[in-house]
Amino acid sequence: MRVRDVFIGAVFLAVVAGATYFAYRRFVLPGNQCGVCGREIHAGHASVLLLRTGKRLETCCPRCALHHDQHHAGQVASILVADHATGEKIRAQDAVYVEGSDEMPCMPMSATPPREPGVEYKVAYDRCVPGLLAFRDEAAARRFLAAHGGRILSYGQVLESVKQR
Ligand SMILES: [Zn+2]
Repeated sequence: MRVRDVFIGAVFLAVVAGATYFAYRRFVLPGNQCGVCGREIHAGHASVLLLRTGKRLETCCPRCALHHDQHHAGQVASILVADHATGEKIRAQDAVYVEGSDEMPCMPMSATPPREPGVEYKVAYDRCVPGLLAFRDEAAARRFLAAHGGRILSYGQVLESVKQR
């Protein structure tokens, strides 16, 4: 009965591996990945979308959150963004933003592929670019700007920027 034992062992292993994989996907990944682009979430940049259905969607940066809002009209009840200076969550419309600084909340998905003659070149669309950081306090945003570059945008200006990119 050795063959049968080996077979049962293999099936058992497959079931355990499968269950582990699904548990990982179900319980580990969602807490740590952007609900919009799939990137890893870091506390200082994370945003939260509170949906009208009662669901919560965490994103890697304010840009992803605002993209989701613009592409799912009427589904988002409110958006919270992380104050870059303290990490605390504040209402998106109360924040001042720094766009295009040298601090990128999200690493680009992939390096631009090398261009080869005769090969069609695809532009990779990256919704996290240019980087967008939120600040509760405009003075803190200006201090950050002096050190890291970029431009200060109001919430209204950010909405326009996200519409275009
Ligand atoms: Zn994202």
